[in-house]
Amino acid sequence: MELACLDLEGVLIPEIWIAFAEKTGIDALKATTRDVPDYDVLMRQRLRILDEYGLKLPDIQAVIAELEPLPGAVEFVNWLRERFQLVILSDTFYEFAMPLMRQLGHPTLLCHKLEVDAEGRVVDYKLRQRDPKRQSVRAFQLLNYRVIAAGDSYNDTTMLAQAEQGILFHAPDNVIAEFPQFPAVHTYDDLKKAFLQASERPLSL
Ligand SMILES: [Mg+2]
Repeated sequence: MELACLDLEGVLIPEIWIAFAEKTGIDALKATTRDVPDYDVLMRQRLRILDEYGLKLPDIQAVIAELEPLPGAVEFVNWLRERFQLVILSDTFYEFAMPLMRQLGHPTLLCHKLEVDAEGRVVDYKLRQRDPKRQSVRAFQLLNYRVIAAGDSYNDTTMLAQAEQGILFHAPDNVIAEFPQFPAVHTYDDLKKAFLQASERPLSL
């Protein structure tokens, strides 16, 4: 049995924090895991900035509600789900992702949770577990699934290494250079081909 694990932001949807930063004009919120590999450091920084500007969860959700999946993402997800069981492994939060998951047809999503107070202020966040993407792949392998995984940045690399085959998609040059062991592709057509190549089954485009 084969399972496909996909990162979400940068692979199927835009980077939520970058879209929010552009909408609000707060440049400091543009940093992502591409810039700050330590996710905890990055999230503490984001929550501090939200507080400084007095921004609440509904402000963020209003921006997210206007976002759409990347061009071609819906078709790619449908293609993949006809050939693999698909699980999205993301470092986003359920509170942010749901409007976009609806547009993708609600594939299974494993991610994190925010803690929000009665006034809508984001007070903290709860990571599901440490190194969650790799741990998920490990767990699927214990269930006798062979995992093919694709992601675009630092927080995906342990998942890609744990999988039977890891693929970099839409990755920036520094990530591609640092992880030459993973094939790197930039279009959904090439990502489909990479999944077919990684599969042990006789699948076709
Ligand atoms: Mg990503």
